[in-house]
Amino acid sequence: MGNADGFRGPALLDERNLHLLFATAAAVASTSHVKGLPVTDFPRLKTKYPDLIPERQHFQCGPGWEQVLDKYFDEVGRALPLGASLGLGRIYQKYGSLRIDAMPEGVVTDDVQIALDKAENLADSRSYRYCETCGKPGNLRDKHRWLYVACEAHADGAPPLPPDEGVLQLNGVAYEYDENLDDLVVVEDEHEAAG
Ligand SMILES: [Zn+2]
Repeated sequence: MGNADGFRGPALLDERNLHLLFATAAAVASTSHVKGLPVTDFPRLKTKYPDLIPERQHFQCGPGWEQVLDKYFDEVGRALPLGASLGLGRIYQKYGSLRIDAMPEGVVTDDVQIALDKAENLADSRSYRYCETCGKPGNLRDKHRWLYVACEAHADGAPPLPPDEGVLQLNGVAYEYDENLDDLVVVEDEHEAAG
């Protein structure tokens, strides 16, 4: 077989090829720098979440975020009611962190929609904590205005920065990421707290 870029059309991966692909991606990841992130389409995740990730799905992010994506698809799988499916759009890195475009297919309740939005936002927040190249603990870096998340080994000399997270507004409720809980928590009303 050729390399991962050689695949066209419906994938014909058997178990042996999957392992080969994954081993290749891992080998490249351990030697590659952030500017030349190896391309992976996360075959292990496609095998684990066949109902959520189409075989043809492309991922425009590095292999170090597999654990972040794994949690995302686990949460989405549990949030979606039976019979509902996920319309997965782009999955990509922007301004350093992981962005996921996804919509439920068909009509879902507000609760389901909120759970999906939360999962998307959690993936974004978590991605600031893991090196996009190797998956070890990392921080946001800025090198000549190129933003990326990297561990010390893949930082390319750029110092660590705090995550660039905001407050998420969902149905009038404000949430922020709590690193210790690894979850979104409701932002306390500052007026009430002060009064
Ligand atoms: Zn790294």
